[in-house]
Amino acid sequence: MGADLNDLYQRVGDRLNLLRQKRIEHEEILAFYAKVLAAQQEAQRETKVPDVHLREDHLTVKVEEGFPLVDRESFPVDENCTLGLFQTICRLAMEENPVLAGAGETLLEAAVSGALDISQLITATLNNDSTVFEVRANDLGINLPILQALTKLSLQPSLFAAAEAMAQRVALSDWRHGYCPICGALPAIAGLVGEEGKRTALCSFCGHSWQLPRLSCPFCDNTEQEQLRYFYGEGDDLYRVQVCDQCGSYLKVVDTREGGDVEVLAVDDVATAHLDLLAEQAGYQRRAPRLWGI
Ligand SMILES: [Zn+2]
Ligand SMILES: [Zn+2]
Repeated sequence: MGADLNDLYQRVGDRLNLLRQKRIEHEEILAFYAKVLAAQQEAQRETKVPDVHLREDHLTVKVEEGFPLVDRESFPVDENCTLGLFQTICRLAMEENPVLAGAGETLLEAAVSGALDISQLITATLNNDSTVFEVRANDLGINLPILQALTKLSLQPSLFAAAEAMAQRVALSDWRHGYCPICGALPAIAGLVGEEGKRTALCSFCGHSWQLPRLSCPFCDNTEQEQLRYFYGEGDDLYRVQVCDQCGSYLKVVDTREGGDVEVLAVDDVATAHLDLLAEQAGYQRRAPRLWGI
C-alpha cells in the first residue's frame, strides 16, 4: 500500500474516534465501522490491482474534454483480496453488530459454501446493476442494502488503489464538474475547504476528492441562486444540507475548516444520517447511494 493510502486510513481512523466521542447516538454503527476500517487497512496492504491501459496523452485529452478517466465497469479489482475481506466483514457483522449479525452469518455461510458467488456481486457493483443484488438478497432472505454495503466495503481497497494510481498519472486539479474525474460517479458528501470555503466533493464510488464548480448545483449545473439553498440541522452549524429546487437533489456539506478534511468525510456521512432523513422528509433526493445506509 502506498504511503498516501496508509496515511488516509490513519486520518479516517482519527476522525472516527473523534466522532464516536461527539456523536454517541451513532455509537453502534461507528464502532462497527472502526472494526471494518481496521480490516480494510489490513486488506489494503495485500491489494494489488493491475494498471489501467490508457496512454498518457489520451488521459490528458479526457480530462480536458470532461470525460472521467476510467469507466466503472473497467475498474481493476483484486478479486482474492475482495473475497477474503468480504468473509472478514461478514464475520465482524456476526460478532460485533447485533443488527447485522443474522445477515453476517447467512452471508458468511453462503460465501464459504460457494452458494454465493462474490465475483458476480463484484461485477454487479462495478456495473451499478442492482437487479443481481435484489435476486441474491431475496434468495438468501437478507436485507438488500446490507448485501450491497458489505460488498462495496469489501471492494473499496481495490477501488482506492486504482483511484490513487490513476490520480498520479495525470493532473486533475483543474477539473470542475459535478462528477468524479476518475470514475464519473457523483459526490457522496462535500466539504468546505480553505479560507474561501471551496466546495470539495468526496466520490461515492472510488473515494477520490475534487473541487466542485462554484455556485452551481453539482447534479444539474443550475446556477440560479434563488433555487440553491442551504439548511442546517438543529443546533449544529458544522453540517449543512445544500438543496437544489431545480432538480430536487440535496448534498450534505461539512465545514472542514472546523476540523477533518474532505478525504475522511465518509465517517461524517454515517454520523449525519439524521440530515439525510430531514432532507428526504423535505422532499429532496440523494443522488449518490448511501454506502452505510444499513
Ligand atoms: Zn470516483
Ligand atoms: Zn440541481
